[in-house]
Amino acid sequence: MAGQKSRQEGGQKGGQKDSQKGGRQLCIHGHFYQPPREDPWMDTIFPEGSAAPARHWNERICHESYAPLAWARRQDGAGRIIEIVNCYEWMSFNFGPTLLTWLELQAPEVYARVLEGDSKSLARLGHGNAIAQIYHHVIMPLATDLEKRAEIAWALADFEARFKRPAEGLWLSEAAVDTRTLELLAQAGVTFTILAPRQAREVADIGQSNWSPANEGNLDIREPYLVELPGGKSIAVYFYDGPLSQAVAFEGLLRHGDYFWDRLSGLAREQGLLALATDGETYGHHFKFGEMALAFALSQARASAGSVRLTNYAAYLAENPPRRRARIHENSSWSCAHGVERWRSDCGCATEHKPGWNQRWRGPLRDGLRAVKARMDRHYQDLGATLFKDPEEAVVQYGRVLSGLTEAAAFERARFKKGLTPAKRDTAWKLLTMQKWALSSFASCAWFFDDLGRIEPMNALTFALRAMGLAQRTGLDDLEPLLLAHVGKASSNDPAVGSGHDLWTREIRPRRETMESILAQALVGLWAEGRMPRPGGSAEVSWPGLGVEVGVRKTAASGELNGTASVTWARESGSDVCDWHWERTNGGGPLAGCVQVEQHGGARHAAKCVPASYLAWGKRQALALKWVRRAEADSWAQQNAEAAQGAHLFLPYREAQTTQTAAERWGRLWSALCWQWIMGEVVPSRDFLDFLKELGQAHPERALLAQRVGEALVDLLSASTPGVDPDFASLRGILERAASVDAVPDLWAAQNLYWSRLRANPASRAAGLALGFAAV
Ligand SMILES: [Zn+2]
Repeated sequence: MAGQKSRQEGGQKGGQKDSQKGGRQLCIHGHFYQPPREDPWMDTIFPEGSAAPARHWNERICHESYAPLAWARRQDGAGRIIEIVNCYEWMSFNFGPTLLTWLELQAPEVYARVLEGDSKSLARLGHGNAIAQIYHHVIMPLATDLEKRAEIAWALADFEARFKRPAEGLWLSEAAVDTRTLELLAQAGVTFTILAPRQAREVADIGQSNWSPANEGNLDIREPYLVELPGGKSIAVYFYDGPLSQAVAFEGLLRHGDYFWDRLSGLAREQGLLALATDGETYGHHFKFGEMALAFALSQARASAGSVRLTNYAAYLAENPPRRRARIHENSSWSCAHGVERWRSDCGCATEHKPGWNQRWRGPLRDGLRAVKARMDRHYQDLGATLFKDPEEAVVQYGRVLSGLTEAAAFERARFKKGLTPAKRDTAWKLLTMQKWALSSFASCAWFFDDLGRIEPMNALTFALRAMGLAQRTGLDDLEPLLLAHVGKASSNDPAVGSGHDLWTREIRPRRETMESILAQALVGLWAEGRMPRPGGSAEVSWPGLGVEVGVRKTAASGELNGTASVTWARESGSDVCDWHWERTNGGGPLAGCVQVEQHGGARHAAKCVPASYLAWGKRQALALKWVRRAEADSWAQQNAEAAQGAHLFLPYREAQTTQTAAERWGRLWSALCWQWIMGEVVPSRDFLDFLKELGQAHPERALLAQRVGEALVDLLSASTPGVDPDFASLRGILERAASVDAVPDLWAAQNLYWSRLRANPASRAAGLALGFAAV
């Protein structure tokens, strides 16, 4: 490893020398982002069928791209690992705040590598690789002034909370820009952003008036430009390399690492900065193994002894302040040739261009969401004036609460009027939650694609439904008629999907959570996980957006249950308390049971009976997932207990015997029998091993067994008391026994762990070889 370290240092030293004469530098930027897909009541992502067997697209793309980039393999000719590269350490990147929120909770190891990539680049270059991103990925030129201020402030607060430093640069959603946005960025302390080359209008030398028109053909993209702003401030703008970025994103440049590197190093021979920017998901998701091509190119650059220096935008800017200035095309973007029309009209930009299709639905969708947002903003201002010291400042600063930089109590002291009753405090919090979801409904993805019936426009409408519900709860009229007056005019290109009105009635409105639907999810969930409390007991069910404390009063002989519940919403100060009654029907399954709720303190009305089968598909699927995880774990434990005995009863074959008696029944226990052998619990006969091997060739449980053995290896490597090595001999034993029955374990996580924590330990060498690493 010493050799590798010196290569890196060599690269850096050469680069610094180089940069003094202008430099040959390379910056590869990835924009990592997912459309917001969280449910706005539970604030969590429910299963999406098209991503199966993954739970949803965040999970699937994490598996295909975000995680592989965090541990990108470099292999020798024999396929053995010579290095695992954290690409985030060597590339410039931005992650959407809503995506990072998910990553932090659901893929903490990947999240840690992202943070580590930033801190290591900060130590190396004096400037970190990470830059911020507009919070909800809204199209900034189409946002109101207050929305612009909030989106920037929330983005910067989120960044600071995660990366423990202020952001230097910020990625504008779709690179959509106008002068006002740049002005607000500069006011907030952002020093640069990145645009497409065609967004430059004209350029001149600093201090001179030699303006000349700019276009993609004549713009020198090797240097940053200064954009001077009306208020007297300025901001630097980088224009990325259009053709190269295009080739990476769409023309298969990532198919071979050496091909990718040849192109980069050839172009990087000129002075200045070679910068390319693409969606980060290009690596691994759009192009399988793209992360390996990137890791190869990054390693070549590091080994190039300074002939190409890997840098990031902030580091380059610090050494190379702009010498020229630029004016931008107002209301332009990187993905619509018509400015920002793609997010409000049928401009002709589309992803699939299906014959006969149009995007006339885009206008009414934006008009409807704008109309209800305008009403909610007035409501916020009017009611907020009685609750907040300064309603606008409260919404701008609310991002600090969302990011955890400011505690709720401190926020109340600083932003709420003095002496508010508990009910008024709760109303104030609800107004802020309303703003959050209303802003989320403008995430650009809703308009980007080709049809109103897609998941993204439906999510935008769902966010609006949630925000409108909070508006109503805090005293505003129902805004649904206003929304539908616009959205009703929109139509899907698919006649079966129908109009915006049809979609709303059929798909969106039923998504609204009620106390009944929340209790149905809590109760069926407790049952599915096998943790329904006994009478007199209680249990908690929580999602990031809310928590339910369920108390069970009594169980009737018929299976009916009743009790009380208290629902507490995240970042609000009140709770909703109710009595509930769950009638478990015979037949029809666990979703058929009817839930009735009587809310305390609310207006009394006839209790509705709501079966869980009325829940949205994703919510029912989440309950199914709870059940299958618990049921499968129980079944695995039981099979293992049986196999622990049965493995000893697998006698050597007699005479001309070629297979086991009742082989098909033994075969049903294949993975548990394998497990007993692989974990070293039995001493088997040759016939037993041959039987397992033969049966395993096409066994449906192969993948699950591979996963289980992989997890066992991780447990083994993690289990070490300080100063004591993990049991490397056991690890090798497991791998040898697995190989003897052709069970191929999933080594991904164990290899990552070995590389990060154990490879420097001389006692681990043989285990490293067994895990697939090349000899050192
Ligand atoms: Zn367009």
